[in-house]
Amino acid sequence: MSDATSSIAANLERIRNEIADACARAGRNTANVALMAVSKVHPAEVLIEAYEAGQRLFGENRVQEAQGKAPVIAGYAGLELHLIGPLQNNKTSKAAEIFQAVDTLDSVKTAERLNSAAAALGKTMRVLVEVKLSHEESKHGVAPEELPALLAALDPLSNLRVGGLMTVPPFDEDAETARPFFQQLRRLRDENVGAYPTLTELSMGMSNDFRVAIEEGSTCVRVGTAIFGKRVYPA
Ligand SMILES: *Cc1c(COP(=O)(O)O)cnc(C)c1O
Repeated sequence: MSDATSSIAANLERIRNEIADACARAGRNTANVALMAVSKVHPAEVLIEAYEAGQRLFGENRVQEAQGKAPVIAGYAGLELHLIGPLQNNKTSKAAEIFQAVDTLDSVKTAERLNSAAAALGKTMRVLVEVKLSHEESKHGVAPEELPALLAALDPLSNLRVGGLMTVPPFDEDAETARPFFQQLRRLRDENVGAYPTLTELSMGMSNDFRVAIEEGSTCVRVGTAIFGKRVYPA
């Protein structure tokens, strides 16, 4: 076993324990909080190392990068790959092929294209709607006030199943800064789950703030750095 393998396995174990602690503090069942390993920028081999340490759920930010990793991870039973970065309209077919789910849906147009692509492959894809709760230019997602209209437009798309909401709050060293954003996403879910009963998931929380996100009801924390180490982007 290489050093990298043992550190990924150890990191996963530590984070699983931290998730369990946060659940215990919040009076929640650990079974209701999934850990997604965010493997963007890292080579496909690290996904396999994490898989061998028991990890099954992975998130990638770019369709093209995931496409490059797809042949390596094919054949690992139960490995589930979600898109957690923006989906361009010209990538919907590829995305439907590579990913089990798209967690960043934020437009009707993209949803319609993804729905057609999934139908052509004879599959139903799980999707989450990304909500933009801050005013940062760089962030994606639908504005909260536009969420009901988007959910209504997604409803008839029979090859997509809307499973919940996702958000990325502004980064801050202090995890507490993210708390109001997590609370707002939860409120939006609670306001809309009556009309859309499948809208149960809350994908929120990253390396820095997943403990706070769990306290606020997260059902999926997306953790990259704390599992795989710092991302080194090519120059
Ligand atoms: C990169 C990324 C993550 C993981 O971030 P870390 O801080 O490395 O844990 C989670 N969610 C999204 C959408 C990301 O782009």
